[in-house]
Amino acid sequence: MKALLVGEYREGKLLGSTYELVAFARKLGAESAIFLVGSEQQLPRVDGRVYLAEAGEVGEYNPERHKQLLLEIIAREEPDLVVFVHSSYGWDLAPRVAISLKAAQVSEVVDVEGDGFIVPSCNAKLRRRVVPKTRTSVITIQPGAFSLAGDPEGAPEVERIAGGTAGEIEFVGYEAVEKGGVDLAKAEIIVSAGRGIGKPENIELVAGLARSLGGEYGASRPVVDAEWVEHARQVGTTGQTVSPKLYVACGISGAIQHLAGMKKSEFVVAINTDKDAPISEVADVLVVADLKQLVPVLTEKVDSLK
Ligand SMILES: Cc1cc2nc3c(=O)[nH]c(=O)nc-3n(C[C@H](O)[C@H](O)[C@H](O)COP(=O)(O)OP(=O)(O)OC[C@H]3O[C@@H](n4cnc5c(N)ncnc54)[C@H](O)[C@@H]3O)c2cc1C
Repeated sequence: MKALLVGEYREGKLLGSTYELVAFARKLGAESAIFLVGSEQQLPRVDGRVYLAEAGEVGEYNPERHKQLLLEIIAREEPDLVVFVHSSYGWDLAPRVAISLKAAQVSEVVDVEGDGFIVPSCNAKLRRRVVPKTRTSVITIQPGAFSLAGDPEGAPEVERIAGGTAGEIEFVGYEAVEKGGVDLAKAEIIVSAGRGIGKPENIELVAGLARSLGGEYGASRPVVDAEWVEHARQVGTTGQTVSPKLYVACGISGAIQHLAGMKKSEFVVAINTDKDAPISEVADVLVVADLKQLVPVLTEKVDSLK
């Protein structure tokens, strides 16, 4: 099997997610090459071929032009899979490429099983195994789902590419997300609330335990989407990536997008009424309990020890 991996580069830097693509190809046992619009100064540390278009020449982001360059390399490489990260870059470019190739697209892959790709469905409560049937398929992988065992190392063989036309798309610039008042990335203890908290009034239970432990409180995306907690406190792929000493997940199922943001925590305690919730796979301790009963008792106990 042959895979063409579409690396990512932003604001003058190679993104670490490029190595997640490499990890995915290794998991598949696929021979791989990398396509990258980036810079010679920021090459991925891997062996193998890198097709490099200089971002300074072809534009750091222009989906039309990048697509044209990519299609040329696909015609030369004839890969079975063209693989993107499921990021804003990937989810813009991948369907354009799939449609041009009349190829199947499988999005948000989190695992590989036999000749199929596992994708979450129904709010990550189910996993579907998808087997694409076209000669070449386009895949996007979920950020955080695949990682290299050690530090990346190697020296790529670089082939420079250029060309393509900009089309009607003009790249204007990046807009930084407004920073909220809390920087969870610096917190050593985080207690997070998931949909299991049930109603906004219960946020105070989780925030109270965080205060007693001398930490911060966070939340999963549904809690933020419901506007029970501000976005700056969201943990996960579309929120913050955290690595505290202690992470307490209250009523959080453990969807891959949440795990991607907290799986580097040193010690994870999960409180969940469901003993089979996927969070148990990363939790050091799983307490099967109703958080509304347990969290106030825990807070009281912690306070009494001060
Ligand atoms: C592109 C994309 C990006 C995303 N980015 C993020 C992200 O950054 N962060 C993120 O979190 N999600 C993200 N998501 C959403 C993610 O897929 C999940 O839907 C989400 O993480 C689920 O949140 P949850 O665990 O709080 O809710 P649920 O999955 O509904 O889980 C609730 C859990 O609470 C438990 N529970 C219920 N009642 C109680 C109780 N009384 N006591 C204890 N436990 C209880 C249940 O057993 C269950 O396990 C993203 C999704 C997509 C498609």
